[in-house]
Amino acid sequence: MTAAITPAPIAEETAGPTAYRLLIDGAWTDAASGRTLDRASPGHGVPVSRYALAGAADVEKAIAAARRAFDHGPWPGMKASDRAAVLARTADLMQDRADDLVRLDALESGKPISQAKGEVAGAIDIWRYAASLARTLHGDSYANLGEDMLGLVLREPIGVVSIITPWNFPLLIVSQKLPFALAAGCTTVVKPSEMTSASTLALGELLQQAGLPDGVVNIVVGHGADVGAAMVDHPAVDMVSFTGSTRVGKQAMAAASNTLKKVSMELGGKNAQIVFPDADLEAALDAVVFGAYFNAGECCNAGSRLLVHRSIADDFVAQVVELGLSVTVGDPLDPDTQVGAIITHDHLAKVEAYVDQADQDGATIAAGGKRLEGSAGRYMAPTVVRDVAPGMAIAREEVFGPVLSVLTFEDADEAASLVQATDFGLSAGVWSRDIDTCIGLARAVRTGTVWVNTFMDGYPELPFGGYKQSGLGRELGRNAVEDFTETKTVQIHRGERTNWWVRPRGNQAA
Ligand code: NAD
Repeated sequence: MTAAITPAPIAEETAGPTAYRLLIDGAWTDAASGRTLDRASPGHGVPVSRYALAGAADVEKAIAAARRAFDHGPWPGMKASDRAAVLARTADLMQDRADDLVRLDALESGKPISQAKGEVAGAIDIWRYAASLARTLHGDSYANLGEDMLGLVLREPIGVVSIITPWNFPLLIVSQKLPFALAAGCTTVVKPSEMTSASTLALGELLQQAGLPDGVVNIVVGHGADVGAAMVDHPAVDMVSFTGSTRVGKQAMAAASNTLKKVSMELGGKNAQIVFPDADLEAALDAVVFGAYFNAGECCNAGSRLLVHRSIADDFVAQVVELGLSVTVGDPLDPDTQVGAIITHDHLAKVEAYVDQADQDGATIAAGGKRLEGSAGRYMAPTVVRDVAPGMAIAREEVFGPVLSVLTFEDADEAASLVQATDFGLSAGVWSRDIDTCIGLARAVRTGTVWVNTFMDGYPELPFGGYKQSGLGRELGRNAVEDFTETKTVQIHRGERTNWWVRPRGNQAA
């Protein structure tokens, strides 16, 4: 049984929460209503941030500022090399401020500080990648349309982009969108999750220092139902780039369809790791525990299902339970912590309810299953649920907590069909030393990413996104800037034109 948690007090925050304002048209402003919103650290129960809370009037101003900055420039018309320089300077400034950014994300989301360090480093790397891509953006030309015609396909920035992000990877996810939108020449309104907005607001400050013109990035902290909904619905917005739950993603897509906006959707997942008996089982074991408990399972890519071959299931699951119990759960600010706090009390109750339901449905709770008591924060014990049937909610729905569901299979076909037995299609992992098994499964499953003998690696060069109800479109990769563009076809005629009303030119006056 994992011990109860007693995080140390967080000395720097006892003076009270840090105040943040909205970034609109280059100015840091209070909300028009004067309202504020406090965020307490999930690991400590202490208020750490106090945001100006945007409402309808603020989001209207932010969208108008982005529209002006797009329509009147200079950002969209600047040389790509100049835009790239701003992105690269931002990356340098993020590096200088890395410790602050790490602390903000750890405090507001409850993630372990060691993990937040990796995420901030990853985010900086993405900004550098976007800076390098900015200068590669180009269109096409067609000189094969006959002597008298030249076809040009121009790549133009799509316009004003609403960027809406969730709470689980605050700086990383905005960095998967914003630098590419900027590289394309777009202007933006950004709404981070109202629970974890601090690192995005800090990024706004760094963008200003890097020389970004006013109005190009506007940041509003607010609730989804009013601020987020307005950013999706507003006719002055050209594209919505959304990361969040499948439920809200569907609502946002429906709302964006009123004005036929382009949408990019990164949504939920119910990802499986498939373990065959011929795998390097020690490596697979480590990856299964990591995949299930990384970010307390609050991760779209969480390996929340273990599909293990029946012949090794008992032994392998016993080892998963043993390793899972040795994971260090606790104070996000402790450098040794591997699993931090759960984002809200309601969410913790939802995670527990999934486990209780599985218990009632006949599954076996092999480890954990309950919150860890005795703490100012909120923590959930790493949990293993076995004897899970494919139809159970815990096998099909996104639990979003440190909960691993175990199912078994007999052969690769059964494994592939279990992978498909959810509405999601974000990612999957395959563990085997047989190349035929690995390639066969990688091709058979309908997921946006397949990891083979590894899990949850990520590179800016590789596209990321989901099949089925895990999303629409891809982020990252070499097309990441193009995603924020429109194409315009220009047809240029030279020489004498053959008129539709065919008459020799000399007779025109007749
Ligand atoms: P959420 O859908 O509740 O909220 C996401 C964002 O949308 C927040 O900023 C929220 O304020 C805003 N929002 C809420 N209602 C809105 C509305 N009607 N219109 C516009 N915006 C609205 O998600 P969450 O709980 O913050 O994040 C967890 C979810 O995000 C999980 O489902 C997870 O799988 C998913 N996620 C997906 C990826 C991916 O890349 N596929 C990455 C991280 C998280």
